[in-house]
Parts: sequence; C-alpha cells; structure tokens
Amino acid sequence: MREYGQFYIGGRWIDPVQPRTLDVVNPATEEVCGRVAVGSAADVDRGVAAARVAFPGWSATSVKERLEVLQNILDVYQNRAGDLAAALTEEMGAPSTLAHGFQVGLGVGHLTTAIEVLRDFTFEEQRGATLIVKEAIGVCGLITPWNWPMNQIAVKLFPALATGCTVVLKPSEQSPFTGQVFAEILDAAGVPAGVFNLVQGDGPSVGVPLSVHPDVDMISFTGSTRAGIEIARNAAPSVKRVTQELGGKSPNIILDDQDLAENVGKGVTTMMGNSGQTCSAPSRMLVPAARMAEAVEAAREAVSRVTVGDPNGDFVMGPVVSGAQFDKIQALIQKGIDEGAALVSGGTGRPDGLPRGYYVKPTVFAEVTSDMTIAREEIFGPVVTIHGYDSVDHAVEIANDTEYGLAGYVAGADLDQARAVARRIRAGYVAINDGFDFNCPFGGYKKSGNGREWGEFGFHDYLEIKGILGYAPDEANG
Ligand code: NAD
Repeated sequence: MREYGQFYIGGRWIDPVQPRTLDVVNPATEEVCGRVAVGSAADVDRGVAAARVAFPGWSATSVKERLEVLQNILDVYQNRAGDLAAALTEEMGAPSTLAHGFQVGLGVGHLTTAIEVLRDFTFEEQRGATLIVKEAIGVCGLITPWNWPMNQIAVKLFPALATGCTVVLKPSEQSPFTGQVFAEILDAAGVPAGVFNLVQGDGPSVGVPLSVHPDVDMISFTGSTRAGIEIARNAAPSVKRVTQELGGKSPNIILDDQDLAENVGKGVTTMMGNSGQTCSAPSRMLVPAARMAEAVEAAREAVSRVTVGDPNGDFVMGPVVSGAQFDKIQALIQKGIDEGAALVSGGTGRPDGLPRGYYVKPTVFAEVTSDMTIAREEIFGPVVTIHGYDSVDHAVEIANDTEYGLAGYVAGADLDQARAVARRIRAGYVAINDGFDFNCPFGGYKKSGNGREWGEFGFHDYLEIKGILGYAPDEANG
C-alpha cells in the first residue's frame, strides 16, 4: 500500500494546504493499492510561486549547466527504473514486460534525445543587423494522462527543463505513483529548488486552477479532446500558450502489394499493446475489400496469440485502467454489434477465468464502415476495426474520414506508392512499413491537437521568439 501525502514544491516535500486524499485502485485486482494527497487552488498557487521565483535563475543558466543537470537526472532515472516500472504496473495494470522494457525505456530515450538536442540547439541567430533569440517561455503547467504516464511526463518535462523553463506537474489522478517517483528522481538528481514542482489532484481541483492561473505562461496538455477544449477555454483570458496532444483514430492502410497476413497480424498485435490505451494506436485497419476474408483469417489467428492476464505474469495484455474505462469499452463493443459490424473475435464480457480486474477481451470487428460509431469514436481499448477499400483513392478517403489526425500507418512493397499515400494522410506523423524515431515530430492535425512533441520539435513549444532590431548595425551596412 503506497501512501503519498505530500507535494514537492520549492525543493521540499510539503503537506497540502487542506488535507484530502484520493484512493488509487489497482485495475488488476480492483483493490485500493495506494492513497495520494489531492491538491487545491492554494497548492497550485504555492507551486506556481515557487516556479516563478526559480525562473530567472534557471532560465539564465548556460547550456552546459543544464546539460549537467539533465545528465544527473538520467543517471538517477536509470537507477530507479525498477521502481518506475513497478509503479506503472500497480497504478494502470501495465504488464511488467511492457512497463520495464518499453515504458521506462521511452523515458530514457526522450531524456537522451533532449540532451543531444540541447547540445546543438541554436538559441540565438543573427540575420543581418537583427538578432533572433529563442528564450524560455516561463512557468509551464504540465497536465498529463494515465495511459503512458511515464512517457507523457518525460516528453514534456525534459524539453521544458532543457530550454530553461520551470514547471508545475499535475499527473493524472489515476496514475499518480509514477509522478511521485519522478519527483524523487529529480530531487535526488539535484534539480535546483523550484525548477520542478509536483501537485497531485484531479482536473477540477488542480488542472483547472493551473489552467486559469495568471502567473502560468504556458500549459502543455495531453489527454482527451474534451479536457483539451476546456483547458484552452480556461486559459484564454490570461492569453497563455496552450499545446494540446489529444485523441486519435489512426488508420493503418495495408496496400495490395504488401504481405497481407503478416501486416494484419502486426496491426492486431500493435493495437492490443497497452490494452489498446494508446492515442496513436492503429485502430482502423484498411485492407483491399476483395481480400477481406483473408484479412479476417489473419486477424483471428493473430488475436488468438494475445494472451490476457495478471500484469505480473507472462501475458501480452493486462487490464484496462479503471472500471469506468471498462464500461465505456463494453458499451462501444455492444454498439459495434448493434450497428451491424461483423464480430471476428472477442466481444463483450470478461475473458474466461478472469472474474476480477478490468480485463477486456481482445476484439476484432470486420466489414466496418466509416459511419459506424466504432469507426468514429476513440475506443481507447483493445478493439480493431477492419475496413475494406476498393482503390488506393478510396483507402485515403476512408483514412481521412475522421475528426482526428494524430497518426497514420502505411504498409506497401512499392515504396513510391507507399510514400505517395503517406503524404496524403492528414495526420501529424505517418509510419511507412514500421519505423521509430525519437526525433520525429509527434502531434495532431484536426481535433488531435496542436503543437509538436519529441526531439527538437518538442523544444519549440517551450520557447518564445524575440527579434532584436539594430543589434549589429555594422553588419547590416556591410
Ligand atoms: P483526460 O482528459 O480525462 O485527463 C488528462 C489529464 O487532464 C488528467 O491529468 C486530468 O486530471 C486532467 N484534466 C481533466 N479535466 C481537466 C480540466 N477540465 N482542466 C484541467 N485538467 C483536466 O484524459 P485521460 O483519460 O487521462 O487520457 C486519455 C486520453 O488522452 C485519450 O483521449 C488519449 O487519446 C489521449 N492521449 C493523447 C496523447 C497524444 O499524444 N495525442 C497521448 C496520450 C493520451
């Protein structure tokens, strides 16, 4: 049973202004596995004040000084990798292999990338007589979701610190443990007081006061489109910058010249990773309509290998994060059945032998059309929909027939054709025949958000750009 009763503010662990706690439920057991203090507007005030005091000093540090701090964080982070993975498994049911290998590894990847980018980043550039300066934007509120809790904190925090910003982090109330371990890591790494602050709580108690706060310069948010819109509205009167990484309904186009069975299998397996709770997951699989039967067979075979069970055991998939998420997924699966999609595998109810825990059956629907609810709404669970297309143009039309635009996937043997299709997908990133790159910009078109994270692109969100005219008049005159 974890007990986290304090927040990390101004370099110290301090009690909340008002004593209030929140129970955290382990989704694999449905039992309370920890208790975390819940903050209020008064705690947010304290966190923001500490970040404001620390800002002039931190933003004036040299690149070399910030590199040293980031390197220290990397060292401590790697030592605490096991604790981070254990926290993840408890709070969101991530299978330990996924938590250890992938989730914690993503944090290392983002931090290493931030260090490399910072080493070569151009903060000042002279253009004739004018100097262009990129300066830290100020105090940043980081609001993160539960689905990839480590990754979401890492992808915001490291570029914010690298660029000289100070921060107040509010992790999701459903996955607060990783945020707490993160604060311990930063404290042990010697991050100066006030540069990083942690206030736990839910949207109304902490997220809203942070968004409206007049002394916060920027909010970096990842989560649902609903909350993203609310945050932008709340932030508007103070004209702060808001970047939003929101939902997705990403297409996975398998072109006719590519190995259909292999790519259908890959698509199904990828979708079921993290129990389908991935914003960029390839949730809509597009296959040639004439080969639907072949695709269904391959999907059925692939899904049979997706074992479900205790995240501490040797299973591919653990539970989903909460009872509310379980109910939402069940309702959407039922909707798919009611609206006439062909259920290939899975369906409603719990998998056999798992009466406790928020376990969902890995589910595949075929013959899905774009007007169906399961094709339009982000399910955020282990559900793949297979759509048939008649031509490449038709595939692109289906791919773009969504209010989201976070990611896209194209599998094709003819690289020229695959490239052309990738260019036509309206999404922030598109992967051709797999691929992974910590420097690839990550962010959404349309209702999937704005701003870009990862690598060098992640730095820009935390920087103001200033032009100083007449900075070097002699150079302008030749
Ligand atoms: P959520 O929007 O419910 O919560 C996200 C965070 O926002 C939490 O910390 C929550 O406490 C806070 N919050 C909620 N309402 C708020 C408000 N009114 N003001 C301020 N803060 C508020 O999302 P979730 O259920 O935690 O996460 C799932 C969603 O996140 C999915 O839609 C998923 O697609 C999206 N997501 C997107 C990306 C991306 O990079 N685009 C990555 C991961 C998750």
